[in-house]
Amino acid sequence: MYLGLESAADGKHQLIAQFKDLAGKNGSAIFEGRSQSEKASIKRDVERCAEFLENIHKIDVRGLALFSCAGRDAFETVGVPVPFRPHMVVAQRAAIAPLIAALDEFKRIAVCLVDRREARLFEYFMGRMEEVASFVDEVPGRVRVGGRFGTEEARISRHIQSHEYEHFKNVADVLFEQFKVRGFDWLFLGVRPELRENVEHVLHSYVRSHLKGYIDATFKTPAKEVKKMTIELAERLRLDENERLVERLIVAAMSGGQAVLGLSKTLRAINMAAVSRLIVRAGAAGKGMACESCAYLGLRRRECELCGRRMKKHENIIDLAEEAATAVGAEISHVNVESRLDDFDGIGAFVRFPVKK
Ligand SMILES: [Zn+2]
Repeated sequence: MYLGLESAADGKHQLIAQFKDLAGKNGSAIFEGRSQSEKASIKRDVERCAEFLENIHKIDVRGLALFSCAGRDAFETVGVPVPFRPHMVVAQRAAIAPLIAALDEFKRIAVCLVDRREARLFEYFMGRMEEVASFVDEVPGRVRVGGRFGTEEARISRHIQSHEYEHFKNVADVLFEQFKVRGFDWLFLGVRPELRENVEHVLHSYVRSHLKGYIDATFKTPAKEVKKMTIELAERLRLDENERLVERLIVAAMSGGQAVLGLSKTLRAINMAAVSRLIVRAGAAGKGMACESCAYLGLRRRECELCGRRMKKHENIIDLAEEAATAVGAEISHVNVESRLDDFDGIGAFVRFPVKK
């Protein structure tokens, strides 16, 4: 069961209301065609979820996923900082597609604030910002020496520059270490414009290839501000990435490349296990049919093309499409902006091999 808080206020009540709505709405559908023991097991799962929600004290997440298998005495919850679209799935396999999509969305970001002698390193992931390292290197202060010919000043300046260089090298080493140990998808730097070139110059090439931008923060900027700037830049980059992804998908599909657009063709690609990356407009929905016995998906077909059994109607076939794509190892990416994907039912996919049109 996936739940999502639209606002932070009164979270527990919101979650319980959503849960009741889902359990009530799906009540008859989830029991239809099941054996007595299956029904009893599902009923225990629903009770377990209700019990968990009743006992929540503090909620610091916006999205909550509940996984329950009473038959195996398994119960797991996962919280994320963005709301899930509320829905409920009863299946043999845990419905993890929304989690996969959420992971795709959350970049691990290293944020490094560098000045001439100080540096602070933060890690931002899934709404949490943590300070990882903070250090000061002994770089002599910039003193102007009024020597007649300026030679003394030039010597001191070179001396300072070499210290500065050592400091930037230290920063670069710390970042490379962080990259090796924790890994990060993106690197944001907070460095004054006049120092940027020198800092970039000493970064390890792997680290530099993850540098995505600069934030307007200094060593002294409060962590809360740094977090806010990080979120803003990440959001901007994400929207750009969304737009480029949709463009790439549409160009590939239109030019006969390995991509499909629209619900009908995408379901066909999923049925053929051809999908490598499923692209879905967040919140997209569409009615469809699914075969209960072999998981074949379709739009209006009543009998399964593969096994001939009767197909079952689903209010949102996109949920099942995401799960089926995940089952064959596809990545799932959610698009959060209006784009040309909206003209194609909000769904498309890159495929591993051509799918007949
Ligand atoms: Zn079938």
